[in-house]
Amino acid sequence: MPELPEVETVARGLRRAILGRRIVSVTLGKTDFIDDPAALEEHLPGRQIAAVERFGKFMLLRLSAAAGLNRVPTNGDAAPAALLVHLGMTGQIAPMPSAQPREKHTHVCLLLDDGRELRYTDVRRFGRIAYLTEAPLAEELKEFGADPLEASDDEFASRIRGRRARIKALLLDQSVLRGVGNIYADESLWRAKIHPARLGAQLSKQQAKTLRRVLQEILQKAIVMRGSSISDFLDAEGEPGEYQRHHRAYGREGKACYRCKSSVRRAIVAGRSSYFCPKCQPGPRGFAVLPLRGETKKRVKRRNARRPSARL
Ligand SMILES: [Zn+2]
Repeated sequence: MPELPEVETVARGLRRAILGRRIVSVTLGKTDFIDDPAALEEHLPGRQIAAVERFGKFMLLRLSAAAGLNRVPTNGDAAPAALLVHLGMTGQIAPMPSAQPREKHTHVCLLLDDGRELRYTDVRRFGRIAYLTEAPLAEELKEFGADPLEASDDEFASRIRGRRARIKALLLDQSVLRGVGNIYADESLWRAKIHPARLGAQLSKQQAKTLRRVLQEILQKAIVMRGSSISDFLDAEGEPGEYQRHHRAYGREGKACYRCKSSVRRAIVAGRSSYFCPKCQPGPRGFAVLPLRGETKKRVKRRNARRPSARL
């Protein structure tokens, strides 16, 4: 799923490509991922894309008041609004020549005033698109926590250390921090040498400080490398990202830890596959690690029984 660096990459691409363009018309395919499809058709034509912002894992296309319509703006079209876009698992949004054939899973086409179409394509349709005026948008966004790139040491520490939830769950919780998902949670915990199952309340001040620093460094580097392409992430120019080459934990089960050469392991934490080094990131007592391929049950039991507990 696209996380903060991938969404930032797409937002930057769209900013370069479509800022200032006016939407002429709207064509919809399947609409089960759109909050109110009729609102898009009614309110988008005539509006100008005034800004493209990232908010957590969302993109916000800020729309100026409608103009150039054959009708007098009604239903609040004289006021600014926004198109909220969440890419879900497989969503892609990019401008294309309108003559280019539409792909099978293209479900939203916004014809722009320069003749191109801004197309949203989503095979699995786990994404979300919503047209929102200012008040409902503000209501929607107030549920979210701090942007990890903007959080101060104190804010980060208070959001993490005051909580008796597992650190992995806290990093994924969008009401704690907005924009982090499975990849960048595992990468930052590996870098900070913190086991994903440790409780937020059990982290020292120094550990919280380190985690914030490495999380910011990782996110910034991933943005520079235009995100991670694991399966099908493409940016607004249709290009894959490159940060997956720098992953140190995520997806590396059974491979040697870059620091200590132990095998990277996988466990389910917060309902998600979590990758970590059992030596660099000591975990809670009895914390079950999933067997490596071909490993016997007896061996797994012995290994789990040996797990260090002193640093819980
Ligand atoms: Zn290690």
